[in-house]
Parts: sequence; C-alpha cells; structure tokens
Amino acid sequence: MEADQLATNARSLPHRPIGWPPPKMTPLSPEPYALTEEPAEEVEEPARGWTTEKSAKLYQIAGWGLPYFHINSSGEVEVTPDPTVDQSINLHDLCVSLKERGLAMPLLLRFSDILKHRIFRLNHAFAKAIADYEYTGRYQGVFPVKVNQQSHLVEDIVEYGAAYQYGLEAGSKPELLIALAQMKHNKGLIVCNGYKDRAYIETALLAQRLDKTVIVIIERIEELGIAIEASRNLGIRPMLGVRAKLTSKGIGRWAKSAGDRAKFGLSTAEIVELVDRLREADMLDTLLLLHFHIGSQISSIIPIKNALQEASNIYIELAKMGAKMGYIDVGGGLAVDYDGSKTDFHASKNYRLIEYASDVVASLKDACEKAGVPQPTIVSESGRAVAAHHSVLVFEVVGVNEIRYGEATPPPEGSHRVLTELYETYKHIVPKNVQESFHDASQAKEEAQSLFKYGYLGLRERAHAERLYWHCCEKIQQTLKRLKYIPEELYDLEKTLSAIYYCNFSVFQSAPDIWAIDQLFPVMPIHRLAEEPTVSCTLADLTCDSDGVVDRFIDIEDESHTLSVHEWKPNEPYYIAMFLNGAYQEILGDLHNLFGDTNAAHVRLTADGYEVTHVVKGDSVSEVLRYVQYNPDDMVEQVRRQADRAVRSGSLNNEQMRKLMDHYEDSLRGYTYLTD
Ligand code: PLP
Repeated sequence: MEADQLATNARSLPHRPIGWPPPKMTPLSPEPYALTEEPAEEVEEPARGWTTEKSAKLYQIAGWGLPYFHINSSGEVEVTPDPTVDQSINLHDLCVSLKERGLAMPLLLRFSDILKHRIFRLNHAFAKAIADYEYTGRYQGVFPVKVNQQSHLVEDIVEYGAAYQYGLEAGSKPELLIALAQMKHNKGLIVCNGYKDRAYIETALLAQRLDKTVIVIIERIEELGIAIEASRNLGIRPMLGVRAKLTSKGIGRWAKSAGDRAKFGLSTAEIVELVDRLREADMLDTLLLLHFHIGSQISSIIPIKNALQEASNIYIELAKMGAKMGYIDVGGGLAVDYDGSKTDFHASKNYRLIEYASDVVASLKDACEKAGVPQPTIVSESGRAVAAHHSVLVFEVVGVNEIRYGEATPPPEGSHRVLTELYETYKHIVPKNVQESFHDASQAKEEAQSLFKYGYLGLRERAHAERLYWHCCEKIQQTLKRLKYIPEELYDLEKTLSAIYYCNFSVFQSAPDIWAIDQLFPVMPIHRLAEEPTVSCTLADLTCDSDGVVDRFIDIEDESHTLSVHEWKPNEPYYIAMFLNGAYQEILGDLHNLFGDTNAAHVRLTADGYEVTHVVKGDSVSEVLRYVQYNPDDMVEQVRRQADRAVRSGSLNNEQMRKLMDHYEDSLRGYTYLTD
C-alpha cells in the first residue's frame, strides 16, 4: 500500500471519537452540548477486538514512518533501513539483544542505511526534476554539519554522498575543520557559512590548494574586507558566495531567518556594494554563488516558491552585473512530516520531495531562460530531511503514577451533605449533563476542602469526597468519548486523569526541542502492539525539572496531550521509542541534572541480517563531572576521608564503609541513567 493511502486510512481513529481533541471550528449547533431534553450527538461505538492495524492507525506510523518503520503481525515495530531491499530488523528484538550485550537504556539507534537512502532519495529527486525539465545545470547538495556533527554520521554521509558529489556545509570554524578532515576523497562542495574571522577565511582559501571546492559565503558585509585582504596576502583567489536577505519569509518558528531583521545575509543595497567593491578589487570573477535560507521546517510549499522567485531574480541580476556565478544555494528548510498529516501544520509538510525539487528546478529554469543566463548548479543544504529519520531513541518505563481512587462507594449513613451530593452527581452522569455534572462535582470538592480547613469535615471524609470527585471526572471522561463535540472546559480532562509514565531518559539531553520549541516527535511503544493500549499517559523523564515531560503528542487533529500506552507491568520491560530525532537533538542536548549522552549503536544491514558497526558508550558519571570541572579521584578521596572519620567515631563500621566506597566508585564509573 502506498504511504499516502495508508496515511489517509490512518485518519479514522477507532478508539477516540471523532472530535476528540476537538476540532478548531465552530460546531454546527450553537450549543451542541446544551442541557436540553435532546440527547447530545453520540458517535458510533468503536469496533471490538484489537489488532496491529488499529495500533498502526492509532500511532499514525504509516504517515510519518513509511517506508522505514511499520508494525509486524506480532505487534512489534520493524525497521526497514533500506527500502530497496526486502530486509527488516525487529526493533524490539534488537533492543533486547543490545541490552543483553550490556548496552543499557536509554539507547540511541542509528540506522546508517536509512541515512544512505535519504541521500539517495534527495539526489534522485533532483536528478528526476532536472531530467523532467531538461534543466541544463546539475544538482550538488551539501549536508549542514550543524544538524548532527557526530563523527560516524558525518563519515557515513561523506561515504554515501561521494557518488553524487554531495558535500558538507560548515556553519562555524570548528565545523569547517570537520569538513576538511572528512572530505578526503569526496569531490563535493564545502560551503562555509556562519560568522567568520580571518583564520576561518584563510583556512578556507588555503584548503582550495588541497584540491577542494571551498566556497566562502559572505553573510555580513564586514566579511568582504577580510576575504579580499586574505586573498591578497595568501595569493589565492577565493571562491565567494553571497547570502541574500530575502523579503520572502518562511513560515513557522524559523520565519525570522529571512526578512530585514534576519541575523545573516546582505540586504540588496549591501549586495550592490559587494559587487562594486569586488569589481574595484578586480575580483568580480570570484563571486560564484548566491545563497539564501528562509528557515528550517518550512511546512508549506508556498513560501519556498516565493523565495525561489525572488532569489532567481537576484541571481540573474548578479550574473548581468558581471559576476561569474554558476551556483545557487537554496539553503535548508525541506521539512519532515513528523506527524504524518501531510498538511502545513508546523510538525508536518504539505509537499513531497519531488514537488520541492521540481519547484526549485522549474523556477530557476524559467527565470534563467527568460533572462538568457546559463542555468546554475543547484545546491541545497537540506539537514533535517536527510538526518531526522535515521535515529531512534528507545527508553524504558521505570514507574507509573496513576490517580488511585478505588471503588466509588456511597458515603456512610449520617455523612455530611457534601458527600451525599457528590455521590448523587456521580450516579447520574449521562451524555446530556456532562458539563453540569462537572460543575457540581468541582464545586462539591472545593466545598469539602473548605469544610476540612475550618474543621467541619474529618480527614477520612475529605478523602472520600476527593475520591468521589475523581470518580465523577473519570465517568465524565468516559461519557465524553460518546459525544461528537466536547465542551471547551473539559478539553483537559483527559490529561488531568491520565497516568504519568516515568521513563529512563532526559528530555533535555535527548529531545531538547520538545522543551525549547514545543517540537512534536512521533512517540510510541515498540512492542505489545497487538494488544489494546488502554492507558492514557504523559511521559516524565528522570530530571527533577517539571519541564522534563512529554505531554504533547502527534495526533490526527492537531496534537494530543496524552499518549495511549499499555498497562505497565512492573517486572516486564516496557519500551517506548521516539522516532525521527536524528536532526539537531543530539548536539542541542544538555547535561541537566548531569544526565549525559546516551549509549548509541550504529546498525548496518548485511547480506544475512545486520551488524552493529559502532557502539558509542554514553557518558559515565565521571565524564559528566569532569565537564563541570570536578576531579573524580579527588572526590573519592574526600568521601573516603569522611568515611574514615565516621569509622573512627563509630558511626560507620568497616563493612558499611566498604559498601559506601564501592557504591561511590562504581557510580562514578557507571552510566548516568538508571541501570537496574
Ligand atoms: N542552512 C542554514 C544556513 C541553516 O541555518 C540551516 C538550519 O536552520 C540549514 C541549512 C538546515 O536547515 P534544515 O535542517 O531545515 O534543512
């Protein structure tokens, strides 16, 4: 079945009534849940029996996961790292096996073949568009190193990209150093972006003598003087590009990457100044490339088309003004469909890769043909679209917190009126009075709390009242599932009633964009998917920070505040994975509460299965302590002395001291996450 078709099928969620969470539209009836004699509109009962297909629809795996991820018939997630061959890896079995080999959770799995396939797809999309439009230039993409600088990943990209002369983009001096070392045999471009000092520019110029095509992009007019001077001093003519500050803006969080107040890029006045100064310096032939970048994760194709039109015209003008030109670099922005909805929602995109490539090619072809200017080599700096899919973070649930309210028992004879009223409210909740019942229950709970404060209610009675309140909420929540429209004030009830699943990972280390920019990633259990997930939960990480939670999840209607999961059984590992997090997360991750880098395993397909090509052990406690300038040996010594004194004073015996020191030293050597 085609990905698009599966995604469309995934729109009918059997377990949730249509309209939950509520659509952002005005209901047909002005008061659809009004307290009238008419019963509120109810939706069909979900079909009985759970299947893996229902799990696939629930987690929308076809929308965001195909062709790499699917659920097999036993209810486990499988990875097909190279969709051109019929070979899949059972993600659950892989995690169990790696755990047995000593790689504790949380574990980051990197599938090199996915990376290879992403590079292949990008290059083939442009090749197809170029052939379709009979474009006379070619495509030569670069991978922006900032997206994920891990050496094994950059090595893989350079290796897989060599066939397409796919190069690297550096956004800083350290990234240029990586690019120069990694691009040993690859004939791709090295594009130099970001703030530049003399050393950065001189290194770039000198590297040209290593038979590399290193293009220095002038991002601020101040850099031009440094480049001209460096060129004169070294006697090397540079290969220059210029980044234009377009007026065409992107969309969403990174819209400010373009426009007058953009951090980088030259205004049109500065571009004209750059041309004049290069001509004066007899260096206009060194200006080869026009670059623009209107932001990351551009979810709609329209701003991309607008930017292309504007940039094509600037390119043509530069060529007409006498610059040598030859390259246009359309920057990043190619989006990832994190929620699989194929819309212009910020976590999605409303265009396919081939549409993107075709629009780039067609727009340039059209503009250049009309102006009689040769069609340039197209460069793109697609980052997340190349790297996001290849990494999967897997973590275990280590505990659950659920509101426990036992049985809804009637209040004992002679109880306070407030308890009797609550019980009556509970008994009489039906679809047409959900909102009224919620008001009554909330008011009664508050009254019970006040009565307790002033001494009119005992602790046991207050507890009974609170239990009844939660029972009312639970019954209201169940009743809401039968309604087509949900009263606004009850939107959050599902989250309020949901369980908290405590998980062995750190949001700040492994998925910082969830915390920083409310990014949505697909999250789901990777096994037990033939079983109905009966619990709604949010995820809490190990940090003692209330922001260390995942409480926004992809959903067919915008987003959901809870995730459907299976009941947690304390002695059975329960694995949850966060997908598509290969872009930006690792390097933006921080050491909050000193949770360090996670264990990582690189997996590659082989003729008879797969091999783990690299294991990158996560940080040990000693390593993270060294980042914050502690010396673990000194720390051991400090604690040993205190323990020694305690033994001498008799508050610790020798056996206890040995145990304390063993724990202390083992912990320093150990993983920063929970290990048993
Ligand atoms: N190029 C530049 C100049 C960028 O700033 C970025 C990131 O924002 C990228 C490329 C990569 O963008 P994306 O990951 O959206 O493809």
